[in-house]
Amino acid sequence: MSIKVEQLTKIYGTQKALNNVSFEVKKPEVVGFLGPNGAGKSTMMKILTTYIDATIGAAKVNDFDVTTETKKVQQSVGYLPEHNPLYLDMYVKEYLAFNAKIYNVSKERIAEVIELTGLTPEAHKTIGQLSKGYRQRVGLANALLHNPDVLILDEPTTGLDPNQLADIRNLIKTIGKEKTVFLSTHIMQEVEAMCDRVIIINKGEIVADKTLKELREGSQQVIVVAFDYRVEEAFLKSMPKVVKIENLYDFMYEITFDSTEDMRSYVFDFAHDNDLKILQLNQKSASLESLFRELTS
Ligand code: ADP
Ligand code: MG
Repeated sequence: MSIKVEQLTKIYGTQKALNNVSFEVKKPEVVGFLGPNGAGKSTMMKILTTYIDATIGAAKVNDFDVTTETKKVQQSVGYLPEHNPLYLDMYVKEYLAFNAKIYNVSKERIAEVIELTGLTPEAHKTIGQLSKGYRQRVGLANALLHNPDVLILDEPTTGLDPNQLADIRNLIKTIGKEKTVFLSTHIMQEVEAMCDRVIIINKGEIVADKTLKELREGSQQVIVVAFDYRVEEAFLKSMPKVVKIENLYDFMYEITFDSTEDMRSYVFDFAHDNDLKILQLNQKSASLESLFRELTS
């Protein structure tokens, strides 16, 4: 078992940050821990990485108890904290070598994580000279140094520009093929882009735990499409199973279909038959969006 949390409660003074939380992560997968700000995500992650103790309840990582087997837990997890504390005047290699020493990790492994996280072109720079996206890579490289089975990433994509975002998402998906990744976010789209499963937390309580597959199998599907020309909404309705159309702006439309079949090919055919070019197309699961709104509003 990668992560097992049982009836865990955390109280800071009089503030209850987590209330009777239980969940499990069994196999290597990317699990999104989704919730609005203040929901208790960082608190949960600090407990799983042994930075703070729970008030009541138990948590295990790689079958090691976070309070009684802290060293073993620390060897099993790589942690990217929310405010990734990097030393700005250290060189990338120097910083990783410094942490490698603490973990007793070989020089070869430093080269390996630099390669794995795409840091090679920037490895000779100081951390202060790097963009936010590359600093996140340094944080990820650092979390991967001792080759842990479980990665705990606190808001790894917050504050990145769109290009950096795409790169870091891909990197996390690649890592998630072999390791358990437990990542927090307050942005629903991040879950859709990276995760196999979502655990939704609100006000310290788990309110949903579902695979993305289960969510996608909900009957409605939303496609956001941008054409190079204006299209009449009535005309868009000529596609099969359309239930709702919203003109988001300019030539961008959000189309809701009542279908479990992938409707993207119909949108392509529609564009082709009407001499339209598709400038952008995204498929979203209507159910995750509505579930998140419903559960956290
Ligand atoms: P999230 O990461 O989901 O935004 P946090 O786990 O940081 O949420 O915080 C959950 C709740 O606990 C918030 O109400 C926050 O203000 C409170 N909290 C977090 N850390 C502390 C602390 N050290 N002392 C007191 N309250 C805290
Ligand atoms: Mg947080």
